[in-house]
Amino acid sequence: PSAAPGIDADRLSTLLNAERMRWIEARPRSAALRERARRSQLHGTPLHWIGQFPPPVPLTVERAAGARLYDVDGHEYADFGLAATAALWGHDHPAVVAALRDQLDRGAVTLWSHEDHVAVTEELGRRFGLPFWQFTVSATDANRFALLLARAVTGRRRILVFNRAYHGSLEQTAAVLTSDGTVPAPGVEPNGVDVRESAKVVEFNDLDALERALVPGDVAAVLAEPVMTNGGAVIRPEPGFHAALRELTRRTGTLLVIDETQTIPAGPGGCTRELGLEPDLITMGKWVAGGVPAGLYGMSDEVAAAAARYTEAGDGGLGSTVAGGPLAVRAMRAVLTEVMTDETYAHMNRLAERYERDVAAVIDRHRLPWHVGRLGGRVSYAFTPVPPRNAGELYPRVGSSLRDALWLYLANRGVVLNAMSGAALMSPMTDEADVELHGALFAEAIAALAVPGG
Ligand code: PMP
Repeated sequence: PSAAPGIDADRLSTLLNAERMRWIEARPRSAALRERARRSQLHGTPLHWIGQFPPPVPLTVERAAGARLYDVDGHEYADFGLAATAALWGHDHPAVVAALRDQLDRGAVTLWSHEDHVAVTEELGRRFGLPFWQFTVSATDANRFALLLARAVTGRRRILVFNRAYHGSLEQTAAVLTSDGTVPAPGVEPNGVDVRESAKVVEFNDLDALERALVPGDVAAVLAEPVMTNGGAVIRPEPGFHAALRELTRRTGTLLVIDETQTIPAGPGGCTRELGLEPDLITMGKWVAGGVPAGLYGMSDEVAAAAARYTEAGDGGLGSTVAGGPLAVRAMRAVLTEVMTDETYAHMNRLAERYERDVAAVIDRHRLPWHVGRLGGRVSYAFTPVPPRNAGELYPRVGSSLRDALWLYLANRGVVLNAMSGAALMSPMTDEADVELHGALFAEAIAALAVPGG
């Protein structure tokens, strides 16, 4: 199950071992730092999951600039991972750096209002169509607070999510569908929140199951990515899906929360604008402050009015002292007014189209039963012949060791993809030459791995 259709299993295991050796041998300082970190960090990594990424020793960054990473062993990489959209605009976009430098002399945190807050929330309203906004520290927090408000407004407890969606380190929605029903997602502690109480899970694009789940009237909100991105593929809504989702949620008194954390490469108003969606709440994080920790949630007039009794009393589980701090908000203002322009998106789209064409040509040449998907400036390939209708179709996972081998083959030669999904993001600072390099290396790697004559 670890190879993938069209790939020669022996060639794969030989290449994977060789690439692991090559990675370790060329990274003595990274390896020494890892050993030092083992004495003060769980698994020797600052976040435990870094230890689960493909390289046997973590990529240990010395600095990042433009859309490039530089490691402590002197290697340089074209970075298509871009911190899973947190660095979507590049690691040192001039507009963001200038804003941050200036703000450093004006105070990092005050717990008061600033003009920048107003400029940001006005601009968010213009882009996403919802009138009222609040600041958080992360996308996870934005989802947590949006769901709390949805429960306050509706008086209902459960949240509906689509199977295999990821909305942050939020146990209450980390649930998956299995033949035994709804269970905690793999790796999520079952002795935490009882997801059978907190969540309902249906497959994306399954309107019958969605209707059955909403009709009993016990779901506070549907929390959804407008296009699913977390299965290592781009999973699009079928024609009419969003209209039906909106109609069903309205008819059953269920709120609709759209999570734009990963889908902003689709356009300057996210998928909400691209697809003409009308959510009750919107959540986001990562990219919003150009890498400074920050998140946001927006809500309709109706939600704001209905939540007033709740939000006017006490601190009821919403907020954080450092949420909306001046550094983050200054960066957000720069991102929204200077970075997220039509020219930025034109550049991202052009490079993503090139990346997609390169991958599609290799898939074609070797007649691999794979496909490549693109959402604006985001591209990923999956080892299924056609795009999946839902993320459940991607399980059980195939090709995990192929993903590792490809990641290592590319990274050993200066190209870094997202270490979890293999997805690639284009930033306004990405060079076309790096996209070209990816295409050439991907072709080489597949030529070395494909079933001969296959
Ligand atoms: N929403 C989605 C769709 C995500 O993919 C993620 C993280 N990958 C989050 C929310 C949470 O972001 P964070 O971990 O920065 O809180």
